[in-house]
Amino acid sequence: MAASEYDAFDIDELRVKPGSKVDLSKWDTRSTPSWAGDDKEEGKTHLATLNQEMERLQELLWANGGERVLLVLQAMDAGGKDGTVRHVFEGVNPSGVRVAAFKKPSSKELAHDYLWRVHREVPGNGELVIFNRSHYEDVLIVRVEDLVPKARWSKRYEHIVNFEQMLADEGTTIIKVFLHISKGEQQERLQARLDEPAKNWKFEAGDLGPRSKWDDYQKAFEDLLEKTNTKDAPWFIVPSDRKWYRNIAVSEIMIQTLQNLDMNYPEADFNPADIIIPD
Ligand code: ATP
Ligand code: MG
Repeated sequence: MAASEYDAFDIDELRVKPGSKVDLSKWDTRSTPSWAGDDKEEGKTHLATLNQEMERLQELLWANGGERVLLVLQAMDAGGKDGTVRHVFEGVNPSGVRVAAFKKPSSKELAHDYLWRVHREVPGNGELVIFNRSHYEDVLIVRVEDLVPKARWSKRYEHIVNFEQMLADEGTTIIKVFLHISKGEQQERLQARLDEPAKNWKFEAGDLGPRSKWDDYQKAFEDLLEKTNTKDAPWFIVPSDRKWYRNIAVSEIMIQTLQNLDMNYPEADFNPADIIIPD
């Protein structure tokens, strides 16, 4: 596939249709929607092209300084959030890009409402921020593990929709991506963390807990994908068993969204030709 054809990738195929029901079992985690290339090798070559375009757009975002961009990444354990960040944003200027990872809340965080720690991490002007996990954990693990009563977590979908709408209304572009892997793929990836010494550090026995409640988590994901999928904060489901496809898909989603912002470099308030740099 020629480099110039990258716009042919239709990200709408991955977009959750507004107002639609979500049945994750119907989304084939090994599929490669909208990818017209032949194989993995071609996919990797294409990613290199996409990386250059991402680098250009991120510099423009930073120089323009008038937009704020938030990418939310959610997945089951070993779903590939870290790998996605590494591959999709390879080469971007670290000054304008930040990753915020949301771990188990500290006691100070737990002493506040669940959006308190989230709001302070949202992007400022010119920034691109990636949420590695997010406030969606507050309707995922919190729901499945009964960390707060249902009466409390069930109200959060509406809070989240309103919170994200406020961010959007105030100038933040929001993109939300669910990296969808199969239970079998997770097993292979967790096993690899045991088998390969260089990956041992990634293994956490704690990941086996959510795995044993796979169906409950899928259900919790389906619910949030339905209830928090809005025009200004859309969800995308990216089949992620094939890492090379996942990287292309997330890159395309980000690139096409950034292109749509129609950003320009700020205009100089001087005539460069009038200025002479002294010897
Ligand atoms: P890594 O790839 O390094 O394992 P990770 O995102 O899995 O990255 P961990 O520190 O292993 O990071 O896991 C974070 C854990 O914190 C997850 O199990 C997640 O569900 C949990 N967590 C995140 N937010 C919340 C929350 N609001 N309440 C309870 N648990 C949370
Ligand atoms: Mg982990």
